[in-house]
Amino acid sequence: MPTYLIMADQLPAWAIEEIDSIRKKEVPLGRQRPIGSRQMLSSVDYCLPPDTAGWIRHPGPQAIWNGPSRARSALQIKVEPEVQALFDAPSTVHVGNGEKTMFWMDKWLDGQSIADLAPSLVPLVAKRIMRSRAVCQALTARLWVRDISGALSGIQLQPDLEDTVRWKWTGDGCYSAKSAYQVLQLGRTTFQGADRIWKSWAPLRVKLFFWLACRRRIWTADRRHRRGLEAPEACLLCDQVEETADHLMVHCPFSKEIWWRTTSWAHCGCQFNVDVDSIQEWWEEQQKLQPGPKRKGFNTLFMLTGWHIWKERNVRLFNRQAAGASEIVQRIKDEVDLWIAAGARKLGCLFGK
Ligand SMILES: [Zn+2]
Repeated sequence: MPTYLIMADQLPAWAIEEIDSIRKKEVPLGRQRPIGSRQMLSSVDYCLPPDTAGWIRHPGPQAIWNGPSRARSALQIKVEPEVQALFDAPSTVHVGNGEKTMFWMDKWLDGQSIADLAPSLVPLVAKRIMRSRAVCQALTARLWVRDISGALSGIQLQPDLEDTVRWKWTGDGCYSAKSAYQVLQLGRTTFQGADRIWKSWAPLRVKLFFWLACRRRIWTADRRHRRGLEAPEACLLCDQVEETADHLMVHCPFSKEIWWRTTSWAHCGCQFNVDVDSIQEWWEEQQKLQPGPKRKGFNTLFMLTGWHIWKERNVRLFNRQAAGASEIVQRIKDEVDLWIAAGARKLGCLFGK
């Protein structure tokens, strides 16, 4: 008892040094270190076995209960949260008369504390009350409800007023599906080429193909290899490098020939020596070269050409048949007429139709 009462006082420096020197003599093992008044108040040091050669800071009476015979149980000793958690984790409380169990902090509800079950509620309780409210007090006349301050304590019932809900994503506070949809889109990554795909005329399956191709989601060899699937070693069109979506559509010499023939036939001036990495970039660069009235028609022709390159690739892979560039361009020309007949008016403008 005297020792702990001394610890609670602000000892002069000479007294701390004196006590520390006695401690060092009594405990020869382990790492020697000076002890300050704060440490003396906040923890009790124990010597570990020689093979561990160190010290552990025991949290003292706040981590686990001590019997009334333990003098330090009366002291308010500061304990680091990490150390407190170390001792709290394996401890559960079984409530008897509820006098020693802390209502807010101890784990007395099936091994969990109120702080574990309702972490947002705990900040509304004053720390002094949280540390001192025993279960037997809290459950008497529902005293724990009064412990909660802040927003909960300011509620006054208004019998003549109906409950309402305010939706903070609209100016008038009323819910709208539009605002909810916009909230769901917050923080999304945008795809710059989306308008070129979805606002140009093309059959839906072709738009979907380009949507996937621009996002490198078509099943080219590189993607199949990444998933551990069987795939051709080299590009099926040029047999030179590994097949990727960007190579197939932009960099492949065979594809370039088809692009060149098709765009030349449609009098769309394209540049094939631009330094681009992706389909999307290349498409954007070529579109910029087109005069305004021709851009929508060019976009349709672009998708039609890319679609036929992909189809030729698939025929070579699955049917083991290969067509030359001239034959593929002829197929594109034939399909241009079909697309114009089906409603691709802007594509028709490219050919004066
Ligand atoms: Zn190739």
